[in-house]
Formats: sequence, C-alpha cells, structure tokens
Amino acid sequence: MKNIYCEKCSAEITDKSNLVITTYFLTVKTYHDSCYSKTLKSWETLFLGNEPINGTSGNVKAILAFVLAMILILGPYALLGVVVLYIPLMRLYAWYSIERQLE
Ligand SMILES: [Zn+2]
Repeated sequence: MKNIYCEKCSAEITDKSNLVITTYFLTVKTYHDSCYSKTLKSWETLFLGNEPINGTSGNVKAILAFVLAMILILGPYALLGVVVLYIPLMRLYAWYSIERQLE
C-alpha cells in the first residue's frame, strides 16, 4: 500500500472519487478533482492530457484504443498499432500503480 499525493497541492488523495489521473509525457500524474480543474486553467495544460485517463470516459477510450491497436497490428500498420497500444497500457499502468492503492 502506498500513499497517493496530489501534484498540485501535495496533499494526500484518499478518495478514489476525488482522484484524477492524467498523462504527462511518459509518466502519470495524480490530482484532486478540484486541483485538476485549476491546473487545466494554467499554462501546465500545454503539457497535460486534455482529459483524465481514469473514470468511465478513460476506460471506454482505453478499450477502443486497444481494439484499434489490435486491428492495426494484425493489418499492414503494425507500427502504428504499437503506438496506439500506448493508451490502454498507460490506463492499465495507472490502475495498477495508483487506483488499486485506493481500493
Ligand atoms: Zn490537490
């Protein structure tokens, strides 16, 4: 069990419903829901994903990306498929390393 801290205010995040996970280049960052909204309004948004990767929309996107990746990998665009596969892999990683800790 490890503690999850907010990138913005450095306080601990204890409630999964208050957790926002987003990607920052090849890493994942965690925020409180309210801190994430504030961050979105600042310059940092240039480097952050536009939307959280957790929650329902994140899950749907990860599943769609996984299906698309499989189609691409089995077709003539294998390399592109590997790139698309990054989305569900990050989703899985975020769940494994962060969300699991709050369950
Ligand atoms: Zn915070």
